[in-house]
Amino acid sequence: MKYPSFALNRLFTTVLAISFTTAVFAVGWHQGQSGQSATAISEAEAAGGTVKGPNTAAPDRYVYYPGTEVLGDEEIRLFACGTGLPAARRDQAATCFLVELGNGDKFFFDIGTGSMANVAALMIPYDFLNKVFLTHLHTDHWGDLATLWAGGWTAGRTGPLKVWGPSGATPEMGTKYAVEHFLKAYNWDLKTRNFKLNPAPGKIDVIEFDYKIENQVVYEQNGVTIRSWPAIHAGDGPVSYSLEWKGMKVVIGGDTYPNKWYIKYAANADVAIHETFLTPQELVKMYGQSPQQAIGVGTNIHTSPPAFGKVMSAIKPRHAIGYHFFNEESTRWGIYDGVRQTYSGPLSLAVDNMVWNITKDKIVERMTVSPDQAWSVAGPTPPPAPPTSGVADPLSGAMKAGRWNPQATDAQKDLVDSFMKEYKLK
Ligand SMILES: [Zn+2]
Ligand SMILES: [Zn+2]
Repeated sequence: MKYPSFALNRLFTTVLAISFTTAVFAVGWHQGQSGQSATAISEAEAAGGTVKGPNTAAPDRYVYYPGTEVLGDEEIRLFACGTGLPAARRDQAATCFLVELGNGDKFFFDIGTGSMANVAALMIPYDFLNKVFLTHLHTDHWGDLATLWAGGWTAGRTGPLKVWGPSGATPEMGTKYAVEHFLKAYNWDLKTRNFKLNPAPGKIDVIEFDYKIENQVVYEQNGVTIRSWPAIHAGDGPVSYSLEWKGMKVVIGGDTYPNKWYIKYAANADVAIHETFLTPQELVKMYGQSPQQAIGVGTNIHTSPPAFGKVMSAIKPRHAIGYHFFNEESTRWGIYDGVRQTYSGPLSLAVDNMVWNITKDKIVERMTVSPDQAWSVAGPTPPPAPPTSGVADPLSGAMKAGRWNPQATDAQKDLVDSFMKEYKLK
């Protein structure tokens, strides 16, 4: 281990100070590797440590390259795929955390607007990305479900999506209602894709649970336990989650005023994620809100930086992660100072594409270096066959009659003929 976790706080501060001008963010990473992972790593090592010769690989990796590191049997990889706000920003999508476990399981916690571009750049086969846990139903926490649903359907997911989420004060404020009506809103998309694609991956299974129940188990499979408890945010329904696996605990806090349940059930977390919102002054100066609105939003339904610090000082996680603000030079230091008034432990102020490797020994933060032009990667299960019958063609004869057929033949005939021959299709 290159940097012990107790040094991470000071190191991160230092790294922050240099990284935003140099685009080098990372904290060292040195995972004991064996077998396949060692091979994968040695072939793709980036700068780091001492390079022993002009034609040798660097021993440490300061960044994460998707698809090049096999997780250890007791290792968790946590990605920030969205850390921003409801208003769009190219640099920061809205809330989305992706957890990968050494047993192969992968879980989304929220899938906010714009976050799927970061997820796609990780080049994980869509078939493995089928479990989504929602903290609440604001668009900045589930707005990109549309992209995962339809995009994943076209690019390799072979079965339904599964969405877990809280109930609300009434049935129409709950996750089940939201997802059912999401599919109704996208009815044209659904019906037109159903005709050409296998319909199974276009389905969404919803598992709605009671938002009020404290520390209830909402998922238990394959050695993984996910629990939920209430959060205090805007209306009844929002929750926070913990994921426990192999004696480790990652807590994913959704939007909330500091709440007693988080203090109780996030205790002993290895990693505790919690919002730390823009200050009311920033909401006025930079987000265009009135002072009255800003103080209400910033301190009544969200958590201010000093309050985030108090929460972390109360629960004492091995590592704290703050998010849910536009993280830039003009904001981060004020927020950092606010947190540091009340908390001195290990801390990351998240930006998109940060990644943490978590084991019982250490927690290391790095940045992901991923391509802007990523393609979907095929998984081991081949895509299911398109439907052969039983689905009505949504394109009418009247529309088909408008097809332009030069020389009395299909405009695309030559290409179709040669493709059919190449792939032996009938
Ligand atoms: Zn919210
Ligand atoms: Zn939010």
